[in-house]
Amino acid sequence: MSNFVGDIQMSNGLTDVFFNVLVLSGSALARTDSERRLVVWLAEKDQSRMGYGAIGFDLFEIPWALDTFEVDKNFLLQAVAAARNRLNWEKLDYHPNEDALFPCLDQFAKLISGIDIDKIQPNSLEEWLAEADASDPVMCGFPMCPKHQALLSVFGCHICNN
Ligand SMILES: [Zn+2]
Repeated sequence: MSNFVGDIQMSNGLTDVFFNVLVLSGSALARTDSERRLVVWLAEKDQSRMGYGAIGFDLFEIPWALDTFEVDKNFLLQAVAAARNRLNWEKLDYHPNEDALFPCLDQFAKLISGIDIDKIQPNSLEEWLAEADASDPVMCGFPMCPKHQALLSVFGCHICNN
């Protein structure tokens, strides 16, 4: 079984690693609520809770904020680059297989670079937030896992869970 992120196909195991490293780097770099929201959204791609092989997405589904789109896009590119530079990997209890992971990160960066504001779903942010209840991390100050310094999603810590 596998997941597709855009046209990137990853095994279930590689998918866990891919989101582990992005949540780690994104959590370390996020400075605005809009950036934190994107990391939390990525952290919700949690196979342990959503089901294995069940968390693929297309890039236009990302809940982009229209008014900060370019800044947020740039942030995600920085998060991918930082993941490639192994930011906070010492917090993982394993070492990712770089030969498998890095091509996926490179492809993801290319997909993000290519996404255009008129290709995104304009209401995806509002729709996603409308589903969040008051205890959801995006609604209550973006708590972090003390062990991994990772932003939590409604499912908890992506790295603890996977
Ligand atoms: Zn954790």
